[in-house]
Amino acid sequence: MTNLSSKLIFFSLELNRIDDKILNEALAAKGELSRYKPWFDELRKAKPYQLEDRVEELFHEKSVTGRGAWNRLFDETMASLKFDVKGEQLGLEATLTLMTDKKQKNRKRAFKAVVKTLDSNKRLFTHITNVLAKDKEISDRWRGFEDIADSRHMANSVEREVVDALETSVREAYPRLSHRYYAMKAKWFGKEKLNAWDRNAPLPTSDDRIYDWQSARDIVLDAYGNFSPYLAEVAKPFFEGGWIDAPVTPGKSPGAFAHPTVPSAHPYLMLNYLGKTRDVMTLAHELGHGVHQVLAAGQGPLMASTPLTVAETASVFGEMLTFRSLLTQTSDPKLRFALLSSKVEDMLNTVVRQISFYTFERKVHTARRKGELKTEELNRMWLETSEESLGPSIKLNKGYETFWSYIPHFIHSPFYVYAYAFGDCLVNSLYAKYEHSSEGFAERYFDLLRAGGSKHHSELLAPFDLDAKDPEFWSLGLSMIEGLIDELEQVQLAE
Ligand SMILES: [Zn+2]
Repeated sequence: MTNLSSKLIFFSLELNRIDDKILNEALAAKGELSRYKPWFDELRKAKPYQLEDRVEELFHEKSVTGRGAWNRLFDETMASLKFDVKGEQLGLEATLTLMTDKKQKNRKRAFKAVVKTLDSNKRLFTHITNVLAKDKEISDRWRGFEDIADSRHMANSVEREVVDALETSVREAYPRLSHRYYAMKAKWFGKEKLNAWDRNAPLPTSDDRIYDWQSARDIVLDAYGNFSPYLAEVAKPFFEGGWIDAPVTPGKSPGAFAHPTVPSAHPYLMLNYLGKTRDVMTLAHELGHGVHQVLAAGQGPLMASTPLTVAETASVFGEMLTFRSLLTQTSDPKLRFALLSSKVEDMLNTVVRQISFYTFERKVHTARRKGELKTEELNRMWLETSEESLGPSIKLNKGYETFWSYIPHFIHSPFYVYAYAFGDCLVNSLYAKYEHSSEGFAERYFDLLRAGGSKHHSELLAPFDLDAKDPEFWSLGLSMIEGLIDELEQVQLAE
């Protein structure tokens, strides 16, 4: 891939060398080119940070023995690590899954196993983290990026002040969200404080309903159709045309995704459908991506795909529609409790946890500029940010301090973590608008999806009277999560 892509980097570099005046005249003239103005605008933003061609080529080729090599060392080390759970040697995934087991004994065993293995590898993880942070600092300095996260913001097509507003709003909301929820959860478990291995423990009441494929399809299409018949119409061909690979089969990759292929064809969805409520939500999520990809296809190959800022819009929105309709159809208080609590936990893990990751990364990269970091310093930063975000009802048991070291995002794509919080909060704000007034909302919403990557988030959100630079915007989304916690408290009281 590096060999092939090396031969392509001239394309954007040379386009960016065209004089502004000449390019602007060409884009202003009537003709095919003017359509691509948004694409050129994005490309031009990289111009001030672009280096001479020879240096760009060197950076690109050296990445194989630099960043790439350290990433590979991390991945291969992670894949080979063994975690000793009661004599059984498990991999990382299996051990982390065991930390969400129904039995407390198993969760605790898994936690201890993670602590032990991470601790015996901390020297290596500390070194990799130091090298990569320094490597990033070198590139940023050569290119002239000011803030440690600016290059990520540029790639995401989002401004620093917008991300700052998001981080500030979420951190301010910690007490109202995670602190409050975990205090409630501790009470459900009859404890004052939850141990670190109980944070993601399944709740005493769980939703064990199983939906066959036909029911899942009906639930999601009904929820989509209640929002707008057109949304269901765009979604139907996925089921009728064989665009979804749903069953779990031997050798199939885990997880789920929607792939747009090319705009002149149609997307495909990959799922591992097992019939749990969570799987129905995943279907609603991926189908949302699929619908977005179909609607944006008109923008053509260069502009159909969306920047990070709006990439999760249709997926999270579709999930929310489906969640709401499932909740309305569920009257059993136990099941309502299970539905609400798992939604709240998902949201906290997406919004609160990812923002605390972002805060942690900011501390690490800022401190690294002053010199190499010791394991103890990294541990301390991790504990600080964890304590701030999780609150007083979660105990950070001995050994938790090294849990930063297994998180792949810190290695693979620094500062990417805020993307998850960004997408979730943006859609929550949008959904809150829809709840306040659904008049004409659907049409505006479809316009947003059809725009694909051809518009900036400020242009896309303007028709909804929303502005991501405004902390109020983020508060609106966060109040949605608060509202769900309120509902949860009500169900609990009613019981
Ligand atoms: Zn998604």
